[in-house]
Amino acid sequence: MELRGTWFDGQSGRGAPGVMRVDAQGQIFRDVQGQPCAELAAVTIPARLGTMPRTLVFASGWRFVSDQHDQLDALMGQQGKNGLRWVDRLERNRNAAIVGLVLLVVSMFGLYQYGIPAMARHTADALPAELLDEMATEALQSLPLQRSELPLPEQQRIHDAFARLLKVNGLPAEHYRLHLRSAPKIGPNAFALPSGDIVLLDQLVALTDKEDQWLGVLAHEVVHVEARHGLRGVLQSAYGALLLTLITGDASAATSTVMDFSRVVLENGYSRDLEREADELGAELMLRGGWDPAELATLFERLAEQDSGDLPGWLRSHPANDERIRALRQAGQSAIPSR
Ligand SMILES: [Zn+2]
Repeated sequence: MELRGTWFDGQSGRGAPGVMRVDAQGQIFRDVQGQPCAELAAVTIPARLGTMPRTLVFASGWRFVSDQHDQLDALMGQQGKNGLRWVDRLERNRNAAIVGLVLLVVSMFGLYQYGIPAMARHTADALPAELLDEMATEALQSLPLQRSELPLPEQQRIHDAFARLLKVNGLPAEHYRLHLRSAPKIGPNAFALPSGDIVLLDQLVALTDKEDQWLGVLAHEVVHVEARHGLRGVLQSAYGALLLTLITGDASAATSTVMDFSRVVLENGYSRDLEREADELGAELMLRGGWDPAELATLFERLAEQDSGDLPGWLRSHPANDERIRALRQAGQSAIPSR
């Protein structure tokens, strides 16, 4: 096919009348003779707009202006046969849409999986101590806690051992407040609040027969406080609920989660990773004072026997599995057998 028109070389503004030849293979020639200068598939042909001459732009900078509309339309049709039909374009757009959707889902997942924990960690580190104390007071008041019924010398022994645990590990005693309480409704439990308030219930002490057992629980809880696990957990679910609200438009999830940390810590518990971290570091705290971390594994097993299912025991918020028990036993093998 040959079209008449004007060639512009892209350098000078002056065009030269000439011929554009397209052969059956879709090769374009600037002259009737000579080498092909481009491929038809690579050239964009503008759609017909009345009788306005149309300009074909080549990658080399050359342009060809022609008003032979019937031939140009025929070339557009030929391009279609060469693979640029509208179905293909639609197909490409559809693929782009799917890729976009997948990217969106992946980034949402990424935000949920990594962004939110990171945000929670930063916020947890930035919250002022006064706010944490206020939250703790509120949480402690909301729970059915009574005075401990342990004999006073026993209470003193627990306080002394806890103080020594902090001291041998160089942890500031003024950051912690150990509350010995009784709570028949809560059952054998212990928990730490982000403020450094740690509550140990008589019901849990009753299941122990060694100092290393209840102290193992306290060491574990100290790690939760030091690493701000509880706070991170609450903030994580708060941020998660916020993200969910943004996606679904339903605000009830967010409002019910925000700052509800006694629920998160007591009922939902910590993630498996945080538990492992608390076990490992808690065992180190114990070893430094010469206590045996393996005794915590013994307590886990005793709790598992006791747990009737209707009382939220320490196990509920700190689910033990064989892996944790094995790890604690292993840590215990390096214990100093002097006690
Ligand atoms: Zn824990």
